[in-house]
Order: sequence, then C-alpha cells, then structure tokens
Amino acid sequence: MEIFHISAECYPIAKVGGLADVVGALPKYQSNAGHRVRVVVPCYDTKFRKENEFECVHWGHVKLGNFNFPFNVLKETTDRLGFELYQIEIPELFDRKDVYGHQDDIERFLSFQIATLDWIIGRNEMPDVINCHDHHTGLIPFMMLYCHKYNRLQYTPSMITIHNGLYQGQFSFDKLYYVPEFDLSHVNVLEWGNCINSLAVAIKCAWAVTTVSPNYLNEINFSANGLEALFNMVRYKSKGILNGIDIEVWDPATDTALEKNYSIKNYEVGKQENKEKLCKLFNLDPTKPLFSFIGRLLEEKGGDLLPHASAVALSENYQKLNILILGSGNSMIESQLSSLLQDYKGNYNAFIGYNEELAHLIYAGADFLLMPSRVEPCGLNQMYSMRYGTIPIVRRTGGLKDTVIDFGDGGNGICHDQATVGDVCYSIQRAIKLYDDKKQLNKIRKMGMNTDHSWERVCQEYIEMYKQIIDKR
Ligand code: ADP
Repeated sequence: MEIFHISAECYPIAKVGGLADVVGALPKYQSNAGHRVRVVVPCYDTKFRKENEFECVHWGHVKLGNFNFPFNVLKETTDRLGFELYQIEIPELFDRKDVYGHQDDIERFLSFQIATLDWIIGRNEMPDVINCHDHHTGLIPFMMLYCHKYNRLQYTPSMITIHNGLYQGQFSFDKLYYVPEFDLSHVNVLEWGNCINSLAVAIKCAWAVTTVSPNYLNEINFSANGLEALFNMVRYKSKGILNGIDIEVWDPATDTALEKNYSIKNYEVGKQENKEKLCKLFNLDPTKPLFSFIGRLLEEKGGDLLPHASAVALSENYQKLNILILGSGNSMIESQLSSLLQDYKGNYNAFIGYNEELAHLIYAGADFLLMPSRVEPCGLNQMYSMRYGTIPIVRRTGGLKDTVIDFGDGGNGICHDQATVGDVCYSIQRAIKLYDDKKQLNKIRKMGMNTDHSWERVCQEYIEMYKQIIDKR
C-alpha cells in the first residue's frame, strides 16, 4: 500500500508536541510492515534541514489568490528515518524557526497544502491513501473532492487523524479566494460557525476520522470546542486508535540523553543515578521522591494548577518531596512557577523552555510524573514515563483514562478525577506514602516498564482503517 502522511510536525525534523512524535514513528512502523510510506512536512529553518542531504524532486508555484509563491519539493536522501521524507520548501513562508504562532499561519499552511497536492497530482500514480493530521492539513480532503485541478484525486481515500480538536484553523470567508477553484454549490461544506473551519472541513470530507485514543472520541461527542454536533454526525466513519510510542527512541537501555542506561533488570540503580544527576543539576535532594511535569504550560494541560499545587504540596510536606517542572507556554504560569524558587530552594526548581534531552533525563530520573490535564487527546508522556519506570499521576481524561489505572485498583499509576489543586495534592500525598512502601512502588514501576505501548501493535489498526476506506472506493 502506498501511504502519504501530511503534517505540520514530524520528529526529528520539527517538533512542538505529541503530533511530531506520532508522525515520526507511525510511518516507520508502517514501512517495517511492508508499506511504501511517504511523510510530507513544510521546510522550516531547522537544524535537521541544515544537517541533512536533500534532492529537489519537483518545483512549481503556489497560487494563493493574487500571491504566487515558488516552491520546491525536497526529498531527504539518506533514508535514515525509516520512511521517505519530503519537505515542501516555500522560502517566503516557512524559512523561519518557529513552527506556529505567525500572523500569516493561514496563508502558510494553506500554501503548504496546495503545493503538496500540486506535486501529488503531477505524479503518474495516485497514492492508495492520504492520511492528514490535524487542522493544518484539514482542507486537503475538501480540495481532493471538489477542486477542479485535483480531479484525479477524487477517488483517492483520505483520512484525518485528530491529535487535538481544540485547535481548528478557522479563518474568515474573506479568504475564500485562496482556495483553488471549485463549484460554488459546495461552498457550505467549508462553513462551520460562520467561518471556514479547517478541522470541521476535514471531518466532513475525509473518508474516515480517527482520534488518538478511544476515550477522547467518546469525550468529543460532548465537549469539542464547538464541533460536538459534527462529531456526532460522523460517528459512523470514526474510530479512536490509541497512540503508540517509538520504543527505539524511548528506550532507557540505549537513550543517549541519560546519565546511566538501564533496563528492567537494573532499573533501581539506573533510576537512582539519573535522579542524582538531575538533583545535582537543579539543586534538589536525591533522598526524597521527585515529582516532575513536562509539557506545555497551558490550561488544557492543567498548567495553571501547578504553581498553587506545588506551593501547597511543598508547604505541607516541605521536607518530604522535590518538584521539578520543565515546560513553556502561558507567560503568567511561567512567571508564577519561576517565582516559587525563592521560597522552596533545595526542594523545587523549574526549567522554563523546551529541551528534548532534559525531558529524557527527567523521564528516567523522576519518581512520579504529574499530568493534571483538563484535555488530553492521548498523551504520550504517561507512556514514556512508564517505559522509564516513572509512575504517572494523571487526571482521568482522554487517553490518560485509556492508559493509566489507579494502583488502588491494581493498576500502573495514580489517578484523580477533578482538575483542582485539591485533587492534585491528594494524589501527591498518596504518592509520598507509596514511595515509602518500596515493595509496592517497585511492583508498579515494573508493571509500567513491562507494558507494551509500541506502535508495532497499534499500526495494524491504521492499516485496517485504510483498507476499509479503500474498499469503499
Ligand atoms: P501535546 O502534544 O499535547 O503537547 P503529548 O503528551 O502528546 O502532548 O506530547 C508531548 C511531547 O512533547 C512529549 O514528547 C514531551 O516529552 C514533549 N515536550 C513537551 N514539552 C516539552 C518541553 N518543554 N521540553 C521537552 N519536551 C517537551
């Protein structure tokens, strides 16, 4: 089967969050399973672009209304990623460091989508399936069905995978003229909430819709930032497929970011050495349990709960725990977290920013990983932490509910129901008690390390979904 994945992010090329991890791993496992897999991402100004070899396989001009942007399709030539990588180079729009957050993001991602389809229809053969990811690629299923110049793709199945339904890529009908020519009788397909809503368009037009966990699919029928009714309507073509993790990248036995590598055979020693390294780096006490958080400091992640919850936990249990935060996002949360350092020096620290290597060291060296999320479509951190023998403390939501069961019910982590400071602190209390019960603690750590979250198992579910839509053709 020839599969195209089209995405704004892909690890290790450009990563902001879990979308990159998924698009950098799933294609690799699909290739290993014998499929021809191509991943298409924009060409940002990244280290990866500078350090790798590319050949130009196609070039053209994207017409966006009155604008004309030259583009190149660059194929990475070393093939070391385990799948074929293509980067769409549109210098004027993408030769920048940050993936998102630019005023012209609508123009950028629309041009990326048009350039990608221009290239695909110029080939002799059409792909068997096109898998789009999130709203940045949401107009592709529409353009394949309705835009005259992509007629040849009308019968090629498309699938949209939703990694986060909160972000929808809305823009005003003023920009309708950006969309390549189509019969205006279809214009209402673009509309949701009085604007063009890229994610809604994909949900309407894709032949199949997947979310990154089964429970998230259930939740978005009730809470989806305005798309609830639409999700209900397309339930017949939707499926929740739990994300896997790349067990080659995330392996404590080989991870080069660690102070000491370890496996289930020597995890106690291994984790302790990594913890000592972390504690030295951040002025913490290695004899006490270490609680960490890694992620975007936003309300959806429960980031706003962290400053208060940390202060309460550190005040009540001052001598009993360490907290280490790694993240960036909302500037108010960032400054609240930074200011805690004055009061709790020696037991608390925060690294405000993005640091891939440090994240790996924390998964290895921490004892507990906090995930107080309000919304968590799947969540990968809890799976990484379990693989590294670190116990997740999660709010029961989205994919966290699918992957973490409270140890009181014989499970692999600690769970609470409310996104409140009280619930987070109560879980921390339980964790401190658990930390003193080494037998129980080690049982849960081993349970996590033994859990199979690999893509090998999950990637077949994607293939089955593709087969179903190919059969519909
Ligand atoms: P989301 O995609 O919603 O941010 P996920 O749990 O799906 O959340 O994936 C988050 C990914 O991003 C993980 O690989 C995590 O380690 C990484 N990550 C998030 N924030 C940081 C950070 N500040 N530094 C390093 N890695 C980070």
